[in-house]
Amino acid sequence: MFRIKKIRTFAPCMDQNTQIKILLSQPKEIVITSHRNPDGDALGSSLALAAYLRKHLHNVSIVLPSEYPYNFGWMKGVDDIIIYDDDPSIAHRKIKQANVIFALDYNALDRVDKMGQHITLSDADKIMIDHHIDPEPFVDYMISDTRASSTCELVYDFIVDQGGHADIDEEIAEYLYAGILTDTGRFRHNTSEKLFRIVADLKHIGLDDLRVYDAINNSQYEKHIRLLGHCLNNRFEFIPEYHAGLIYLTKEDYKKFNIKRGDTEGIVNFPMIMKDVRLSAFITEQPTIVKISLRSKGDLSVQELARKYFNGGGHKNASGGYSHESLEKTIKKFKEALPLTLK
Ligand code: 5GP
Ligand code: MN
Repeated sequence: MFRIKKIRTFAPCMDQNTQIKILLSQPKEIVITSHRNPDGDALGSSLALAAYLRKHLHNVSIVLPSEYPYNFGWMKGVDDIIIYDDDPSIAHRKIKQANVIFALDYNALDRVDKMGQHITLSDADKIMIDHHIDPEPFVDYMISDTRASSTCELVYDFIVDQGGHADIDEEIAEYLYAGILTDTGRFRHNTSEKLFRIVADLKHIGLDDLRVYDAINNSQYEKHIRLLGHCLNNRFEFIPEYHAGLIYLTKEDYKKFNIKRGDTEGIVNFPMIMKDVRLSAFITEQPTIVKISLRSKGDLSVQELARKYFNGGGHKNASGGYSHESLEKTIKKFKEALPLTLK
């Protein structure tokens, strides 16, 4: 649907940050949204921004399309998150009442499922903070930087640019660190001098980084360890010609191990520990789609593979997508795409 953008009353020469500062200078009804199957960066950036905005007396709700993984349950603010899949009418009402909507860690409305249509219809001022390529212009203000490790890094910058550095307390530092830690694959990709300076600052503020690390990574149950064993022993395939590793899971595996989508986080990284693997794929049979997660090392990019063959996208070394075909056909398609993309 075509919508004429609101006419701004601010001086056109005023920079975006100043415009946002003026917009947020009075208490507002704010809704923070992020992508479906939220990860550490989606949750961390949403919770950090919400905590910051609440300090400035805004009424803030976080509305996410679907449930978050179990290993983020320790985050203090998660209980107040509204999940669209569970409470569509409350989620819809919140979006309708909002004066300001933030879109964090996503660049296109198809990443928020049905919530997208409510966001499109809303007259709220919309602000994107994101680090994915080719952002779609569904917002009024766009803070998009593909060089950033994570949306959490950009939320840190945003708070500082808004003059709020003193508002970053231990709780906000934990949220930001959770997103940075997970989106960099535990500081294995997209790091920079600037990022380490931010982390040093969070540590200075009082961040207990080891506690956050443990809470996210050393919190698995027996079924997860058994599942990992099953993946490595029975579902792993090495394709030496293309230095590729592949792990897949069937619907029956999900039943047998009593697992849900969020229980498989990180499995895609295991083929990467092999010296001869430069690209890893994790392909899983979901209720209505087949999901693919891709990882790569160094200069090898998986972005194009995700975009061209699996309706997806992402970053150079971490991308994903999906297919409406069967698990078998999706695996076949992946194998056929390898020689075409790894020329
Ligand atoms: P994961 O493999 O952890 O699910 O996703 C890795 C990255 O790939 C995400 O941070 C996101 O940028 C991207 N990604 C995953 N799934 C999709 C998808 O279905 N569509 C798009 N556009 N990007 C995706
Ligand atoms: Mn991210």
